[in-house]
Amino acid sequence: MGFPYGRWVLIDRMPEEPIIAFVYLDKHAGPSAKGGLASDSQISTMPSRTVRLTPTTSLSELDDAEVTARKLPLLPSWLPTYGPQPLADAPWRHDPNIKDKFNPQFPDDIQALVHDGDPRRMRRGPELCWVRILRVDRAATRPVTAAVEKSHFVYVGELLNQPHTLTSVKKGDKLKLLSVPGMPHPLHVTDEYLVERLQWQITPCDKCGASECFDPPSVMARFRFPDAPADSLIQAFTSFCSHCGGIQQLRLLEA
Ligand SMILES: [Zn+2]
Repeated sequence: MGFPYGRWVLIDRMPEEPIIAFVYLDKHAGPSAKGGLASDSQISTMPSRTVRLTPTTSLSELDDAEVTARKLPLLPSWLPTYGPQPLADAPWRHDPNIKDKFNPQFPDDIQALVHDGDPRRMRRGPELCWVRILRVDRAATRPVTAAVEKSHFVYVGELLNQPHTLTSVKKGDKLKLLSVPGMPHPLHVTDEYLVERLQWQITPCDKCGASECFDPPSVMARFRFPDAPADSLIQAFTSFCSHCGGIQQLRLLEA
């Protein structure tokens, strides 16, 4: 669950007096809200209360009229001492496939499926790695046969831990991630994959619903049909889903 970073909230503490506070991220203590009792006159300038937020904290956002009526600033003057803050309106916080998967303490950090390519080809499975999402990349068009696409965002994030067995990526690398319906974690993809992806229709997996693959389709085709003549173009094939082992169908779109 996400916290309303950058917003003024009312924290209910029945039977005690409620607190009006501004939600921010303390890098060390985690999600927090700083303010004062609802009856205080200097809530924003002389905050007297700091609350560490948990998923069970009872809070409600103040609307713009309430913020104005209480003469609260858009951002309190003390906020810069806590460094860069999460963007409350960042698209990944509203992406239905992943919005509930972020680390509550570090709201841009998520575990992603990171890999060196199709596990069958590489004989090496994906690893779940922590990635800090930094920004949205150019949105790629991803045609599918079923109306399952809820997100078209490609996210760019920093790999936060060193993978144990993977060789194509290392800690600190910038990775691209897709949020994929059917997969419980965002999927690491390469630029080669994203470019080729535009030309292929992938029928979602019949078991998990995933409509993406780990390898570029041309790499998948070459691995599955090693005896095909070098100048032949494989236009359609069936593949086991890299995620769950179900069946996906790939078809090259007309040029
Ligand atoms: Zn699957």
